[in-house]
Amino acid sequence: SHSAAAGNFGAKERTLIAVKPDGVQRRLVGHVVQRFEQKGFKLVGLKMLKAPEELLSQHYHDLKRKPFYPLLLRYMSSGPVVIMVWEGHNVVSTSRKMVGDTNPAEAHPGTIRGDFSIHISRNVVHASDSLEGAQREIQLWFNSNELMDWDSCDQGIISHV
Ligand code: UDP
Ligand code: MG
Repeated sequence: SHSAAAGNFGAKERTLIAVKPDGVQRRLVGHVVQRFEQKGFKLVGLKMLKAPEELLSQHYHDLKRKPFYPLLLRYMSSGPVVIMVWEGHNVVSTSRKMVGDTNPAEAHPGTIRGDFSIHISRNVVHASDSLEGAQREIQLWFNSNELMDWDSCDQGIISHV
């Protein structure tokens, strides 16, 4: 295909980004969306919900034995979250950099956590940490008919399609 010839296999890479309950409460949804839009990624899914405990336990299945796990689930179910899927070249690793270190005290200024949070238990956003993790989380939070396959007019300028 054209994109394969251009060496652009990763252009359709997707990741899951969430604005956590503290981010929603603090009116940071628009700001987070704006950062990803301005970076050049494409929004392909978005919804707001109060996350059921079962969904959260699947989402954080790898953390079940951590001491902070019960408080994490309480935090994540304390209010609505905004869940998004973003698409574009290298989006998984690039969005981890945009989000910053898990601990806001370590997150660099210029990252979302570095700019908007001070404590690890209230760090505003989630981002998938690997390609496999992203695929798993996207399937967990979205039905396939909730994900939009659309062409943005600036795609060839931003991403060398
Ligand atoms: N977390 C926490 N205390 C900790 C470590 C993590 O409350 O000591 C929370 C925090 O909200 C973090 C989430 O658990 O974002 C998931 O942890 P993970 O290590 O996967 O960090 P992330 O991938 O979100 O950077
Ligand atoms: Mg994680």
